[in-house]
Amino acid sequence: MSLDTSPDAGSGVRPRGGALSQPTLSVLRRIASSRPQPTVGERCDMCAEPIPATHQHVVDVDSRAMMCTCRPCYLLFTDSTAHLRYRSVPDRYLSFPSFELGQGQWDELEIPVGLAFFFANSQLGRVVAFYPGPAGATESELPLGAWDGVRAANPELETARPDTEALLIRAPGPERQVADCHLVPIDACYELVGQLRRVWRGFDGGQQARAQLAEFFDKVCSRSKDAPACLPDVTSGGRRP
Ligand SMILES: [Zn+2]
Ligand SMILES: [Zn+2]
Repeated sequence: MSLDTSPDAGSGVRPRGGALSQPTLSVLRRIASSRPQPTVGERCDMCAEPIPATHQHVVDVDSRAMMCTCRPCYLLFTDSTAHLRYRSVPDRYLSFPSFELGQGQWDELEIPVGLAFFFANSQLGRVVAFYPGPAGATESELPLGAWDGVRAANPELETARPDTEALLIRAPGPERQVADCHLVPIDACYELVGQLRRVWRGFDGGQQARAQLAEFFDKVCSRSKDAPACLPDVTSGGRRP
């Protein structure tokens, strides 16, 4: 999987400082707004070794930057239990067959379009939500308690790792009675937002965005394994933020 990132994006690649949520947003905007780039000359953001167009990513938890990495650098930060500034983005896709989120609960989340992704931001100590649109990704101010309700009804969602894995949710609607939820690598969400931005028309994205989204979900579904019904450590104080 490849993001539209490249070394020539310059200093915008790693925004630092500013309001805590701002770097996340600017990373998303940068990825969403970048054009397809030539793949020659891509290099590891950590050690500068040349890397192929399809490569793995590491999140800088402090700055929210997504770094393109070679395999050896990626492997340095795969231990999710260590207290590290950098986190490798895992490669797992999960589906939640018994996921429960009805139209009313979706409405409570106040997401204006039919798709959003949610992830725990460990710097902020809370879950943040983004939805796609013509300007790229927009952060949603999650109403207090609305996400807690979703989480309480679906304890298996706790398996998502902070900063590097997101819960990608399609709202209920005419095509589906209940919402569709997958755990995906966070870089896949950025990739999707970038794709959608390029074709987004009108308020709901239009036909081309819907087609793109359907294609993306087909791929996600085919890669996803069913999540375990519940994690054993959920009741033993192992809850994540
Ligand atoms: Zn490297
Ligand atoms: Zn990359």
